[in-house]
Amino acid sequence: MAQNNSSPPSDFIREIIDEHLRTNRFQGRVATRFPPEPNGYLHIGHAKSVCLNFGIAAQYGGTCNLRMDDTDPTGENQEYVDSIIQDVKWLEFDWEDRLFYASDYYEQLYQHAVQLIKKGKAYVCSLNAAEIRDYRGTLTEPGKESPYRNRSMEENLDLFKRMRAGEFEDGAHVLRAKIDMASQNITMRDPVLYRIKRATHYRTGTKWCIYPMYDFAHCLSDSVEKITHSICTLEFENNRPLYDWILDQLNVESHPQQIEFARLNLSYTILSKRRLIELVGRGHVTGWDDPRMPTIAGMRRRGYTPEAIRNFCERIGVAKNDSLIDVALLDHCVRDDLNERAPRVMAVLNPLRVVIDHYPEGQTEEFDCPYHPQNPGMGSRKVPFSRDLYIEREDFLENPPKKFYRLAPGREVRLRYGYFIKCVSVVKDPKTGEVIEVHCTYDPETRSGFAPDGRKVDATIHWVSADHSLPAEVRLYDRLFRVANPLEEKSDFTEYLNEKSLEILKSCRVEPSLKGAAPGSQFQFERVGYFCVDLKDSFPGRLVFNRIVPLRDSWAKISEKKKK
Ligand code: ATP
Ligand code: MG
Repeated sequence: MAQNNSSPPSDFIREIIDEHLRTNRFQGRVATRFPPEPNGYLHIGHAKSVCLNFGIAAQYGGTCNLRMDDTDPTGENQEYVDSIIQDVKWLEFDWEDRLFYASDYYEQLYQHAVQLIKKGKAYVCSLNAAEIRDYRGTLTEPGKESPYRNRSMEENLDLFKRMRAGEFEDGAHVLRAKIDMASQNITMRDPVLYRIKRATHYRTGTKWCIYPMYDFAHCLSDSVEKITHSICTLEFENNRPLYDWILDQLNVESHPQQIEFARLNLSYTILSKRRLIELVGRGHVTGWDDPRMPTIAGMRRRGYTPEAIRNFCERIGVAKNDSLIDVALLDHCVRDDLNERAPRVMAVLNPLRVVIDHYPEGQTEEFDCPYHPQNPGMGSRKVPFSRDLYIEREDFLENPPKKFYRLAPGREVRLRYGYFIKCVSVVKDPKTGEVIEVHCTYDPETRSGFAPDGRKVDATIHWVSADHSLPAEVRLYDRLFRVANPLEEKSDFTEYLNEKSLEILKSCRVEPSLKGAAPGSQFQFERVGYFCVDLKDSFPGRLVFNRIVPLRDSWAKISEKKKK
C-alpha cells in the first residue's frame, strides 16, 4: 500500500472519523471505498478521491474497496473497468480481494425495492419524464403529487414485477420513492428509484431491462459492503437525506455515514469525464492517454510519477468549499519528485553545429559524468567528446545583448563536464544569413572544468558529440487550455483549447547513453527540463521523448509572492 513518509495532516473528514472512533459508532471499524462509474478513464480529480479513501483506510488500519458503480448500461464498458484497475494499481493502492461491482447487487437491490413497495414507501408511477419534471415543482414552489401515488401495494408489486419481466415500453413506468412532494429538498420529492431501459449492460447483458437509479444503488451498495464512511463530492450533499431515508426505511444492518468534500478543480484543464470523452471523441487529443490529458493514463504517459500525484493530493488536502487549484502546484510536485529520482543527461533540442578547429579529426575522448550531482549512488556514464559537437541554438548569439553570457563571437564558455571553448568564427547560410556553424578553439588545460590560471567563464552550456549522439523526437507539451477555467467561459469549452499545447521537435540529438532507455523512464535533460521515453511511440532506433515539465518552477514564485 502506498504511503508517504509523513502522516497526512488532519482534516474535517478525519476529525469526523476520530469522533466516531471515540463514540464507538462503528465498533471501531473504518471501511471506505472508491466507487467509480466505468464510463470513462480516471482523472486527477479521481486520484484525489482514491488517495483520500485508500489513505484513510491505511491510516486507521481499515479497509478500502474498489467498486465499479456500474448501474447505467449506457456508456459503461470493460475497457473502462480495465483502465480504472490499472490506474488505481499504478497509484500504488491495494484493494486486496475487495473488487466489487454494483451490477452484482442487482437482484438484492430489486428485492429491496420490493420491500419498499410492501412497506408502502414506493410506488409505480406512470407519468412520463416531462410530466414528472413538471410535477416536481421548483426551489420556491412545492411539487404536486402524482395521480399514481396512491396505487395499492398489490398493484405496485404486480406492475413492478411486470416492469422487470419486460412487459412495458421504456419510459412507460418508473418506480418512485413515496416521500414528500412538498419537501424543501427537491431530491426528496418522490425521487425515481428504477427505470425501464432496454440496453445491453457490459456485464449483465440483457438479463435486466430495469435499472436502479444512482441514489438507490449507491447507498445500498455501500451498506451491503458494510462501508462505514461513504465519502463523496459536494454535489451529493442534497442526496444525503435520501441516502439516509432509503437505508432507514429498509432497516438495513449497516448504515454508513455519508461525508461530502469539495471536488478538485484544476486550472487550465477540465475534470469532467463527459467533457473529456468529447475531447477524445472529437479528436482534439490523440486518446485518453494523450499526455496533455488530466487523466491518470495521460499523466503516466507524460511521465508523472505516482509519488508526485499522491504528494499533490496530500498537499491540496480536503475542504468543504469548492476552489480552483493552480496547475503550477501539480507541476511543482512533479518537479520535486523528479529532482530526486531522475538521472541527468544531455540532450540538445535545437541543434547548432560547433566545430573545435584544432581538435584532431577522428579523435574521441570520454568524460565520466555523474547521473546525479547530489546523489553519487546513482552512478555515472561515459559521454564522448569529439571535434564536432551540437549545442542548443539559443545558447549562441552573434550579437549578444547585455546580460547574455553564453556563447558569442570572442566569448569563452564552459561545456558541461568538459572543456572551455571560445568562439572564433561563424559560418552563415549564404541565402538566409542564418548562422549554421560555430567555430571554436578549446583549452586542453580545462578538462576538469576549471582553468589552471584561474580565469572564469560566465556560462556553462550543455552539448552532445555530433557523430556519437542519437537522433530523437521530442514532444513539448503545454497546457491544454488557454484560459484558467474553460467551463466558466461563454462559448463551448473546446473554443478555448490551446493550439500550441503540443510542439514536436524532430531533429533533436541526445547523448548515446540513452540508446536503450526503457519506455516510461524519466530523465532530466540538463538545463532544459524533465523528459520521459514515450510509452507508445518510442523504439530503439527511433527515440521519442515527452517533456514532463520544464525546469523553471513558476509555483515557487507564486507561493513566494503570496507570502509577501
Ligand atoms: P465526472 O464528474 O468527471 O464525470 P464523476 O463524479 O461522474 O466524475 P465517478 O466515476 O462517479 O465520476 O467518480 C468516482 C468517485 O470519484 C466519486 O466518489 C466522485 O465523488 C469522485 N470524484 C470525481 N471527480 C472528482 C473530483 N474532481 N475531485 C474529487 N473527487 C472526484
Ligand atoms: Mg458520478
